Amino acid sequence: MNKDIYLSNSLGNKKEKFNPINPKNIGMYVCGPTVYDDPHIGNARPLIIFDILFKVLKCKYGNKSVTYVRNITDIDDKIIKSSKEKKISITELTLNVIKKFHEDCEYLNCETPTHEPKATDNIELMISMINDLIEGEFAYESEQHVYFRVNKFKDYGMLSNKNVADLIAGSRVELSDNKQNPEDFVLWKPSIDTEPSWDSPWGKGRPGWHLECSVMSKRYLGNTFDIHGGGRDLIFPHHENEIAQSLCANKTKKFANYWVHNNFITMSKEKMSKSQGNILKISDLKEKYNGQVLRLALISAHYSQPLDWNEKLMDECEKTLNKWYDCYVPVYKKKLIQDKDLKPLYDDLNTPGFIAVLHRLFDKAKDNNKKDKELFTTACNFIGLLNQSKEEWYSFKKKNLKLSEKDILSKINQRNEARLIKNYELADKIRNELLDNGILIEDEDGKTTWKIK
Ligand SMILES: [Zn+2]
Repeated sequence: MNKDIYLSNSLGNKKEKFNPINPKNIGMYVCGPTVYDDPHIGNARPLIIFDILFKVLKCKYGNKSVTYVRNITDIDDKIIKSSKEKKISITELTLNVIKKFHEDCEYLNCETPTHEPKATDNIELMISMINDLIEGEFAYESEQHVYFRVNKFKDYGMLSNKNVADLIAGSRVELSDNKQNPEDFVLWKPSIDTEPSWDSPWGKGRPGWHLECSVMSKRYLGNTFDIHGGGRDLIFPHHENEIAQSLCANKTKKFANYWVHNNFITMSKEKMSKSQGNILKISDLKEKYNGQVLRLALISAHYSQPLDWNEKLMDECEKTLNKWYDCYVPVYKKKLIQDKDLKPLYDDLNTPGFIAVLHRLFDKAKDNNKKDKELFTTACNFIGLLNQSKEEWYSFKKKNLKLSEKDILSKINQRNEARLIKNYELADKIRNELLDNGILIEDEDGKTTWKIK
């Protein structure tokens, strides 16, 4: 098998073979959450996609050879606004959202990144990078603000393929009297009243969001690293600005070699947005679905394609996992999976292709010996599925049943009595009633058993 990894690189817009700078020390930076509100299903997609990329890279290059950095933006205008609306302090808000975010990561069975830096722990380095930019005349101070001088960086737009004239015409720039040019963007801004602030050469203030990622990626991965990821909504202006800041401050020609962007999630074909009122929080789904159901649903489409979220998708994924759990066996040896089975994942993280492999391995395992079942379970484990025992999977489902076990057994008895007196109409009615409550009954050798649908 061709064991090379291929990725769709947004820089240049084509699928490319992944050539690491140093195979023994691979760096991946992914923009993490801005912690102003509970995580929603749109935030979950990059969590899972880059978790899988982390696993694939570790599989090829070794567990210790990959450094995965995912930051936490804990200072931002959105955070200040949200703390005012919620009437709680910024610290209380951010700590609370970070806690929920970590709970959601665990629920979705995502591995912890190697580093998870917070923006507020890196303010000094941010001030230092701004100083470097001012020194190189790539930035200027104006009325306690510091702006990046976009026209000083001739490659601006290399990622998003936008040019400055288009941006101004499309009103994609924030207007301000303090700027020398409308396309310039903020690196530092003053804080007013009770807003959080840090001392700086330009007065008390706080960093701009784009700067945070340039600084935190440099701290952990150096000036040039392998992969930068995030949602495609971040391409412009966030990632474009990161490139501009980093290349100019570090005086380098390359920032990240591969830019990997996941596509959007729509809700029943509509764009998910606050104004539409169709934001689905991960916490809303926790009671109803096991995290594995969400995980499978989120990888059911290729990361570069939009994914439509709906009840039907969730139900289908739950059914698939129910079926797959029939072939679950605990596995202790992790080396069982074969390269050929991983091929779709090496090929630009083709998760639907890998799901097809899982179905094939399941079909082979279902009537066969333990070894095939072990192989199937290992393959599921590789992508973060079937990570719980059968008991855990079913006990989660039992928790959501409307009927108690006692009720179910009593219904089965009533049905058996009905069948005894040949009242098949009543027997079918009871059977359907149980089915509506998620209970499937099976008659075999004169015995009736039940299982969760
Ligand atoms: Zn970022």
